[in-house]
Amino acid sequence: MTDRYILAIDQGTTSSRCIVFDRRATVVALARAEHPQSYPQPGWVEHDAARVWRDVRKLITRALRDAGLTADKIAAIGIANQRETTVVWERATGRPVAPAIVWQDTRTAPLLDGLDPDVLRERTGLPPATYFSATKVRWLLDSIPGLRSKADRGEVLFGTMDSWLIWNLTGGLHVTDVTNASRTQLMNLATLDWDPVLLEMFAIPRAMLPEIRSSAEVYGTADGLGVPIAAAIGDQQAALFGQTCFEPGDAKCTYGTGGFLLLNTGTTPVRSAHGLITTVGYRIGSQPPVFALEGSIAIAGSLVQWMRDGLGLIGTAAEIETLAATVTDNGGCYIVPAFSGLFAPHWRSDTRGVIVGLTSYVTKAHLARAVLEATAWQTRDVVDAMNADSGLALTTLNVDGGMTADNLLMQIVADVLDVPVARPMVAETVSLGAAYAAGLAVGYWSDPRDLRANRHRAGRWLPTMDPAKRATEHATWRRAIAAAVLFSS
Ligand code: ADP
Repeated sequence: MTDRYILAIDQGTTSSRCIVFDRRATVVALARAEHPQSYPQPGWVEHDAARVWRDVRKLITRALRDAGLTADKIAAIGIANQRETTVVWERATGRPVAPAIVWQDTRTAPLLDGLDPDVLRERTGLPPATYFSATKVRWLLDSIPGLRSKADRGEVLFGTMDSWLIWNLTGGLHVTDVTNASRTQLMNLATLDWDPVLLEMFAIPRAMLPEIRSSAEVYGTADGLGVPIAAAIGDQQAALFGQTCFEPGDAKCTYGTGGFLLLNTGTTPVRSAHGLITTVGYRIGSQPPVFALEGSIAIAGSLVQWMRDGLGLIGTAAEIETLAATVTDNGGCYIVPAFSGLFAPHWRSDTRGVIVGLTSYVTKAHLARAVLEATAWQTRDVVDAMNADSGLALTTLNVDGGMTADNLLMQIVADVLDVPVARPMVAETVSLGAAYAAGLAVGYWSDPRDLRANRHRAGRWLPTMDPAKRATEHATWRRAIAAAVLFSS
């Protein structure tokens, strides 16, 4: 074999994956490891960052071994990662000072009081929410004795998972990319740099922040492998890139732990009037940045995990489909999974989940159905907002992510949205996006447009639901949302 390959790391919320791609974007090897989610208190979600790094290191070795390749056959490494999740570590030892605070964690809700939503939206494109990194860093600085003065002296460093992995892979390079930086709520969308007003607002010292770079350029070389690390990109932006949504108007929705619909809006940021967020889609080297509108759903696949791990009603995630398929409807019950509050378009950090419509008729199969429907209705809310913001009606929903293995869910999404749903052949679009960005950075691929040739559709679902039924169910879903909002803390 004389050709070379690209290695992508997808450091996700549920698991980390390492995938070797060839020039035609075929998966040559895939190694995956799930890491524990820890929920030490209601609303808290943590990861062990040191464990995640150990997993990634092992997965790189395993993926290379499974592909039968030595590192010199890898042209570049690209990293995609769960966004916003906050790691603070010691510069001298590389040890995290606390467990990573995961994007879903709502412990910082009290820190939102008094923040000016207009200033935040104007500078960052984001509403005040516990979702983003800024309040998480602030919480750590406020809670760990002595940490703030160490941060002032640059002795402890902040990073999202991309920074944390690059730091470890290179033995001490402290950088992030513009997509990840845009989710910290500390970067100004106009300057693409840390914003002094925001740093002051959140009381975060600049000395602890990484340098912001583009999503596709060589940052450094992986120790021991000698391979350039040539891309870092937030996982949802990576999926947009992996689905080759390079033109304004192209959109995709990724269903993993959460659900994330991103619409490419071109080189000018579009402000949402309907509760979506404005974010950086990607930036290739010194080219102009491409922006996106995003509708984020906090809980999608993690509701399935809760059915499995929290309630024990299913043994594996895939069983949700088999169980839900034993009934033809939800038996009147709806689940609003506001475990981390409600994200787009509601942005209520204080809202908690509800199950409504319970009668003794309802079985665990109806609950399973309501779990899948919750993902579909949340998507509907986001699509309605996106149609209203862009003035265009979505014509097809391109989907990807672990949850899209669920064919019943795909049908329910098509029914609820009343648009066709299309799934590509390579479901690993997050990794593919990281691979594409890295490959473009080192000249492995020459033009983003060439990558479209790799795109093949594997599944398509058409809406079959009766419009009157859809309207009635939509009205009931809205009432369920209202019930959850009533239940806010
Ligand atoms: P992430 O990248 O966020 O870690 P993945 O894309 O790996 O997530 O998707 C994993 C999520 O998908 C989990 O939350 C899991 O519960 C859900 N999931 C996996 N298989 C199925 C299935 N067959 N039906 C429904 N949900 C599923």
